[in-house]
Amino acid sequence: MDLDLRSLTPAELAARLVPEGARAPDYRGEQVFRWLHEHAVDSTDEMTNVPQKARDALGASTPLRPLRTDVVQEARDGTRKLRFLTVDDRAIESVLIPDDQKDDASERDRLTLCVSSQVGCAMDCGFCATATLGYGRNLTAGEIVEQVYRATKLAGRRPTNLVFMGMGEPMHNLDNVTRALALLEHPWGLHFSPRRITVSTVGLVPGIEKLGALSPAPNLAISLNATTDEVRDRIMPVNRKWPIAKLLEAARKFPLAHGRYVTFEYVLLAGVNDSDADADRLIGLLRGLSCKVNLIPWNPFQGPAFERPSAERIRAFQDRLRAASMPVYIRTPRGDDIDAACGQLAAREHGALVPASRLERPARPV
Ligand code: SAH
Repeated sequence: MDLDLRSLTPAELAARLVPEGARAPDYRGEQVFRWLHEHAVDSTDEMTNVPQKARDALGASTPLRPLRTDVVQEARDGTRKLRFLTVDDRAIESVLIPDDQKDDASERDRLTLCVSSQVGCAMDCGFCATATLGYGRNLTAGEIVEQVYRATKLAGRRPTNLVFMGMGEPMHNLDNVTRALALLEHPWGLHFSPRRITVSTVGLVPGIEKLGALSPAPNLAISLNATTDEVRDRIMPVNRKWPIAKLLEAARKFPLAHGRYVTFEYVLLAGVNDSDADADRLIGLLRGLSCKVNLIPWNPFQGPAFERPSAERIRAFQDRLRAASMPVYIRTPRGDDIDAACGQLAAREHGALVPASRLERPARPV
């Protein structure tokens, strides 16, 4: 499931355009790439300026495996959760999050798209709904970027920001995520700026190093969620392999352009990681790092015995960090009435996993 047509670079496309020995004109790779990434076609038949023979060669070498849009749900706050089905009938979700705030550079309203990088997730964090699905498979680069194209059509405009904070652990699928970044940033596609893309990780240290070596690198977010290894081991098993000290060492080495920062996400769990002592330890851990902290009050889902702290506790935690001059924001839940908020993505419908029979319905086009 690694190579579908939409995963390929223009040069790779050009190489597949012709039967062996022959040669396609140089512009052909660009034409096909534009069809796949600028126009987001679902079939090679739509590539009207590409000769039939060349289209056939493409289709024969590498299939185009478009996603199907299955369900679109809209929350009271305007957040939309999009459920897609892959060619092998796996369900993945993306979330479109509109924001009244104006985008600094473009003056347009900000529109953030949260994309998935895997079907399910292998990281097994105790507080996250996606973890309950277990690991399904990696998404291809084509499947990752297509979430952006379908959401763009649905919203009627391009997202201003992209975050890899949907289902899956991007650094557990880093080759395809890296390829997806290159496709999204390509001038013949959406020409996305890496400054407007954020990759979020549970803290796979080698992945952080590889992401930092990209030039230019996207923004990095780290789901820290605890201030001691004892607690983090318990709620995030990845910590047993990559403990807090190693993780923060990698964060400190991550190359940052002037004025940029690493984002730390911190899910607040009542009685687990929300004490004043936690706040003080967090200040100590992040001292000297160019960073900002996003506090995410835990979003409930059926299952684990966690609780969201009270509004007063959340505020007190924030105030303590603020008093130490740390940039800290509370991430208000978006789309939680349709289970679209952080940590609630599990491709469920009405509380149950999507039954296979539901997956056989014809797709609803965007
Ligand atoms: N696997 C990557 C990308 C997913 S981002 C990562 O963990 O960073 C999803 C974010 O939501 C993470 O910061 C995670 O800590 C947070 N999260 C998970 N479950 C949550 C829940 N139930 N409530 C609030 N935040 C949650």
